[in-house]
Amino acid sequence: MKKVITVCPYCGSGCKINLLVKDNKVVGAEGANGVTNQGELCLKGYYGWDFLNDTKLLTPRLKQPMIRRQRGGDLEAVSWDEAIEFASSRLKAIKEKYGPDSIMLTGSSRGTGNESNYVAQKFARAVIGTNNIDCCARVCHGPSVAGLMTTLGNGAMSNSICEIEDTKCILVFGYNAADSHPIVARRILKAKEKGAKIIVCDPRYIETARLADIFLPLKNGSNMALVNAFANVLIQEGLFDKEFVANYSEGFEEYKAMVAKYTPEYTAEITGLDPELVRQAIRMYAGAETATILWGMGVTQWGQAVDVVKGLSSLATITGNLGKPNVGVGPVRGQNNVQGACDMGTLPNTLPGYYYVTDAAAREKFAKAWGVASIPSEKGYGLTDVPHKILEGKIKANYVFGEDPLQTEPELSLVRKAFAELELIIVQDIFMTKTAMIADVIFPATSWGEHENVFSSADRGFQRCYKAIDPPADHNVKDDWEIHSMMARAMGYPMKYNNAQEIWDELRGLCDLYAGATYEKMADLGYVQWPCPTEDHPGTPWLYEGKKFDTPTGKALLFAAEWRAPLEKVDADYPLGLCTVREVGHYSCRSMTGNCSALQTLADEPGFVQVHPEDAKKFGIKDQSLVWVSSRRGKVITRANLNNRVNQGAVYMTYQWWIGACNELTVDHLDPISKTPEYKYCAVKVEAI
Ligand code: SF4
Repeated sequence: MKKVITVCPYCGSGCKINLLVKDNKVVGAEGANGVTNQGELCLKGYYGWDFLNDTKLLTPRLKQPMIRRQRGGDLEAVSWDEAIEFASSRLKAIKEKYGPDSIMLTGSSRGTGNESNYVAQKFARAVIGTNNIDCCARVCHGPSVAGLMTTLGNGAMSNSICEIEDTKCILVFGYNAADSHPIVARRILKAKEKGAKIIVCDPRYIETARLADIFLPLKNGSNMALVNAFANVLIQEGLFDKEFVANYSEGFEEYKAMVAKYTPEYTAEITGLDPELVRQAIRMYAGAETATILWGMGVTQWGQAVDVVKGLSSLATITGNLGKPNVGVGPVRGQNNVQGACDMGTLPNTLPGYYYVTDAAAREKFAKAWGVASIPSEKGYGLTDVPHKILEGKIKANYVFGEDPLQTEPELSLVRKAFAELELIIVQDIFMTKTAMIADVIFPATSWGEHENVFSSADRGFQRCYKAIDPPADHNVKDDWEIHSMMARAMGYPMKYNNAQEIWDELRGLCDLYAGATYEKMADLGYVQWPCPTEDHPGTPWLYEGKKFDTPTGKALLFAAEWRAPLEKVDADYPLGLCTVREVGHYSCRSMTGNCSALQTLADEPGFVQVHPEDAKKFGIKDQSLVWVSSRRGKVITRANLNNRVNQGAVYMTYQWWIGACNELTVDHLDPISKTPEYKYCAVKVEAI
């Protein structure tokens, strides 16, 4: 038996893992001594590998390229040559007829490969000639990127996951660490054991709330009001760092004026919180020697998410909790490699290394390196634009790589209606996802464990994933970067790589942020956090040293906004607010974890809707009974889970399930800046069957 070191593929914590391999089968996993996990793993790390052995699969693994010659016809297994010829000739014809911007592409946050994402965006920009490429950051932490890029100049965590346990105060805002990133939750627990104060802001009494010194069960949809109330108290009570504000920030007078009316008393009706508790919480944060703010999708999946991110960033700024160890702002990325997908430029507005597509010098640099005349300067479409742009006739083809929009996008009836209008759907994946089931072309790819690559943790840490096994002998699969390269060559562009390292080295040569992050430095347990500008640079565990921010003025921007209520309102017909959440045993669209026997046992179909016992009584719902959950957009069957850890008036569903798919119910209401959907709120009713 051999041990192969790699990185767990199930969240942005980036835990190092040893896969135990015998006779080309993975037979177990154990924690390795990585920077973020120090030998520990959660359930998904320990048990999330057996799909690699192609056993007990609920969803078939994709083993052969397939094409559907006619809509409504059957998928037909074909050779790689035929599949590539079929897909590339159709894509070329669509490009010629409607132009490059009629083609949409995705990067993949679900794979572990930064190299594959780099190649996917290069395919979009250099081969197709469009910036229409996006990744699931659009539907999760897009607001964190947009907000923090504006206020501080970088869209990622300012400090490291491993610093959390040495922080004196942790403000956990809209972030269920125990279910999303169990190893981060362990860090919070360790901080508590070392004497840190913990403040939790969440409508539900989540696991971390049990550790909290102060728990603020705010009403769903009131984030901005609470953040403004925190700022109001800091300013009114003079609890802010005056020297930091004067020398290293800008916009204080506007900020102060905006939050002036948001006293804890004024916001009490919006948030449902005791004003005195709000005061105590922010005094605790401001009074700590070091303090950090961690947030998740309880902040970002709202129609006012970017404003709230900027507001949280401003709390860190005015208290001077930036630019040193054990402080900072922490948007903890959920999908394992969403940080990497963004780092690699699978975004419609940035090239790899966060160069804006509007930056003429950057475009020229990339165009020259890629041997093309130019790169388009217009921002492309985002994932949540897709259904609308298809229905407007602007998108005709969609090349979906490692995503499952027919499961994960909001308002699925709209998505299905739009996808039916496409002239070409290409899906590149490892499983027969819901989107693959309607595709015209399926490209089967190698999985985590079957290839080498570099992965980005949520705290900007690059790590190497090593190949543990060959794909099973009957799997005619290829690496994602190789598939995109074959498509490029078939479309007349000379893209050829021999291995992932060649791709990584090309990327390093183009991006100052990553230039020094060599494969050698990342070998084995190596962990290199960007910025890493030169080969003798060790990487950057915390940003903004010297209180210099990467904004145009070099100062941190302070920002507050008026609170806006969620778009959809509850009423007599739909009296409950639905919030979508995570569950610890499953990940993303569940295609990987749903095919691991231990994780299946932990949580099997159908999913559930968490209902407060008082609401259950009111609507005649019994615990564990089957119920209909309906919104103005759809209706699903699921099982009721009566739970007094949820707040009255709200119900909660996880989004992984084909039966009980909560995105049949969610609403396509987007944050106006990041275009992230308001997955956390729509009006529903729950009825006994
Ligand atoms: Fe994997 Fe995340 Fe669990 Fe670590 S915390 S073992 S990276 S799922």
